Amino acid sequence: MSERERLQNYIEGRFVAPVRGEYLPVYEPATGRPFAEVASSDRADVDAACIAAGRAARGWRETPVEKRAVILDAIANKLEAQIERFAGAESKDNGKPVSLARAVDIPRAVSNFRFFAGAVQHFASECHPTSADVLNYTLRAPLGVVGCISPWNLPLYLFTWKIAPALASGNCVVAKPSEITPVTATMFAELCGEAGLPPGVLNLVHGTGPDVGEVICTHPTTKAISFTGGTKTGARIASVAAPLFKKLSLELGGKNPVLVFDDCAFDEMLATTLRSSFSNQGEICLCGSRIFVQDAIYERFKTEFVARAKKLRVGDPLEPTTEQGALVSEQHHAKVRSYLDLARKEGGTVLCGGEVISPPGRCANGWFLSPVVIEGLPHNCRTSQEEIFGPVASLYRFKTEDEAVALANDTPYGLASVVWTRSLDRAHRVAASLHAGITWVNCWMVRDLRTPFGGVKQSGVGREGGWEALRFFTEPKNVCLKL
Ligand code: NAD
Repeated sequence: MSERERLQNYIEGRFVAPVRGEYLPVYEPATGRPFAEVASSDRADVDAACIAAGRAARGWRETPVEKRAVILDAIANKLEAQIERFAGAESKDNGKPVSLARAVDIPRAVSNFRFFAGAVQHFASECHPTSADVLNYTLRAPLGVVGCISPWNLPLYLFTWKIAPALASGNCVVAKPSEITPVTATMFAELCGEAGLPPGVLNLVHGTGPDVGEVICTHPTTKAISFTGGTKTGARIASVAAPLFKKLSLELGGKNPVLVFDDCAFDEMLATTLRSSFSNQGEICLCGSRIFVQDAIYERFKTEFVARAKKLRVGDPLEPTTEQGALVSEQHHAKVRSYLDLARKEGGTVLCGGEVISPPGRCANGWFLSPVVIEGLPHNCRTSQEEIFGPVASLYRFKTEDEAVALANDTPYGLASVVWTRSLDRAHRVAASLHAGITWVNCWMVRDLRTPFGGVKQSGVGREGGWEALRFFTEPKNVCLKL
């Protein structure tokens, strides 16, 4: 074990071993083999990180906003100069195609920092002139120390999506990336130090949810928790952190509908729906897993969609031509596969996929699965209602717009949704009626970092992005001044 890379905690600008000296293995999903180990921390390490963050809080809060922005920009520039290195590391740790990490994950992490470096300089608070001699104005102060907890599916992308606005608005951060994919966050912490972020402003504590995440959520030092992950974990965090009156932003799971009307631009819809179903092996919270297709084009859609899904190249994530990499862990691979048996029991027909793939060479023991398309499921069965978070899409037929909207809305989730139609009236009508935080019309995952991002129902509470994030990470205070 000793020759393996050891990922340590990053506290007060230095890498430090976890107090109890324990480590967890980190696996390469494409080979199924451990390649590193990560600190398995506990309360003592969270305490140390919170003390460091608390010490740095005043200096960072009082750093002029332009200076903070310069440092955030420097971090973005340094990361941009190392896209290739970070993309390789992300792909190895998560199993995603390196081409995706290079085109999406790492550039997006750069944009997150660059965007909030700019946004914070335009962030302003309100002034309400109440009468000739009374002025009400709002101060927006940083919260102090905040906790940021992120998942494994878009490791650096979602990690930076949280810490960039937290830091930009003057907070110090105690962060925990997923223990399943801890590599790029660790590399990134080091890069932040090199770019001039003062010690203690960003601290990283590695380890499991119960041992580290929950301690961050209940620690008296943390004033807010920004969490992205599963709905069950979100509920657990709310149950322990809400009674302590912490600010909470919870970005949770989804079971996103795609509504395909018979007047859509078919070819563009088909190509995008393939991406929205299977990008990142379907391990994106925004992936569309329930595809509702209008009667008149159902058979054509089914035939062409299945044919395209079968052609997706599954294999070594490092190969430039690979379109589908490995699922993130053995456990997740087994979970996704278990839904195929369940789908059959629930009356579904698997039209393609579900084979465990064993690519020749170094990836023979990786956690690969060919993309799955299912039809014939009742819309209210478990396979249709539960988040699978893998390369699995189910097809459903509908006749009318009202029926499609009712079916789409009939889940406990409400994160993202997609509508394909050429009718302007229908696009607006359906977009307004879908119970989701985001509706894409005739596109998918086109992102503008200024827009509110988040879900309704069991997909979460609160919004990230733009002013929403900067408001979340600051406390408004009204000052009423009589002249
Ligand atoms: P997860 O909930 O298992 O873990 C997420 C993070 O929370 C990890 O760092 C984990 O260690 C930590 N954690 C676990 N238990 C905890 C606890 N009791 N207290 C505090 N922290 C705890 O989720 P995952 O499996 O890593 O990620 C997949 C899930 O994330 C899916 O449900 C997906 O939909 C969701 N997700 C949502 C969004 C969004 O923006 N809404 C984005 C990406 C992923």
